[in-house]
Amino acid sequence: MKRTYIKDLHNHSGEEITIKGWVDVARDQGKMAFFDFRDVTGKVQGVVFGKPEVLEVAKNLRPEWVVAVHGIVNDRNDKNAKEFKTIVEETGVRDFFIKDVEIEITGFEILNKAETPVFDITESTVETNEEVRLKNRYLDLRTARMQENMKMRHAVAKLCRDYLDENGFLELETPILTKSTPEGARDYVVPSRLSPQHFYALPQSPQQYKQLLMSSGMERYFQFARCMRDEDLRGDRQPEFTQLDLEMSFASEEDIMQMNEELLIKIVSELYPEKRIQQIPFPRIPYAEAMEKYGNDRPDIREDKDDPNLLAFCWIVDFPFFEKTADSDDPQATGEWTFTHNPFSLSKSEHVENLKNKENIGDIIAAQYDICLNGYEIGGGSVRAHDPEVLKSILSILGHSDEKIEENFGHMLKALGSGTPPHGGIAWGFDRLMMILQNEKTIREVIAFPKNGLGRDPMMEAPSTISEDQLNELSLELKEIKKPE
Ligand code: ASP
Repeated sequence: MKRTYIKDLHNHSGEEITIKGWVDVARDQGKMAFFDFRDVTGKVQGVVFGKPEVLEVAKNLRPEWVVAVHGIVNDRNDKNAKEFKTIVEETGVRDFFIKDVEIEITGFEILNKAETPVFDITESTVETNEEVRLKNRYLDLRTARMQENMKMRHAVAKLCRDYLDENGFLELETPILTKSTPEGARDYVVPSRLSPQHFYALPQSPQQYKQLLMSSGMERYFQFARCMRDEDLRGDRQPEFTQLDLEMSFASEEDIMQMNEELLIKIVSELYPEKRIQQIPFPRIPYAEAMEKYGNDRPDIREDKDDPNLLAFCWIVDFPFFEKTADSDDPQATGEWTFTHNPFSLSKSEHVENLKNKENIGDIIAAQYDICLNGYEIGGGSVRAHDPEVLKSILSILGHSDEKIEENFGHMLKALGSGTPPHGGIAWGFDRLMMILQNEKTIREVIAFPKNGLGRDPMMEAPSTISEDQLNELSLELKEIKKPE
């Protein structure tokens, strides 16, 4: 018999149906058995009475067994049902646990049995030991809270896709096996078998490729890009995370900021109607002001920090392009210039001459904007240097010799010099945005399969050792690990 989704059962009142899903709760009451069944769309109560052969099977069913349930859809009229119906009438929202109908069970098929789960799947696992959750992530993801987090992640991604598609963006993929691109973190590297002693770097972001797509005449690009950065895993960092990455040709800072603002507002109004954006248009705070007033460049400007439905977006603008690698008081300080955000950025137009002439370096302001939400940086981008002479000059301020520039960035300079339009873009930290929208405390709650605090996946047991044969194929030999003294 054709399967009916639980969310659609109320349209089949009085009919014989089959649902397929999990036993959420099983309650044996002697001559009767009560169940809650769950599929990806909803939860419903089922009951067996007066059918000894069905009851026989029912008594054996345990939570998390996978079943096909045959039965008749009956209307419910008890107190819970009335409450449910009132909410539907008043708000149009049908809760996940549907209570206006139940199933009078006529038969079961057991599709798979399940060991007793290591934690209770009918409850939120937010307080459960995280290592245990990660080791059993497929069980953890069955909980209502995690299902909702994943569904909303999908919904937000889909809304972004649709919006960007309507606005002329192409969704294009860029390589994962690539060459190091300077984003300021350590690279993850992958040894090459075919080019012994050579390594790919995993992308810290698609920065260079997305700019090269602008050189390629694609004009507008986006991608949900996986970025890999080998950093110490303080707090909320993950070795790999997702950016909504985009780039636009012939676009000013204003164009890019306005479009992103519109998209963020659309996400909130369409998918989180219960939330309120504190201020539209989003306030723009110069970097210097943010540092002076809030002591950081991702200020939490919420007027009420106890309100879980308040979203205080703001843009931070006017960042210095360069900073010294360390204070001059520091004996270790090299005192060299480094970039604050992105070496491929342009400066504000009034500072381009300074960039070209390498003058007043500390005063140069970048055409960079960060977007912050409730005290987190959720994205950042810039208008880029599309003139190869300007990029060369930036790289030389950063201390690269002409030779190094040619070796590491020759391809970019060549592309810029072959008819690259003015362009700029942005990347959102998609996991962080989802964490805040879902009122979660860590990004691990909105990532299906995150790593733990040591960068390990306890379920797959990655990273892991590889065989002697694999090492030989890669022409690799392992050094002995020095014990810390
Ligand atoms: N690639 C930059 C980053 O990952 C974002 C951008 O400027 O588009 O921070």
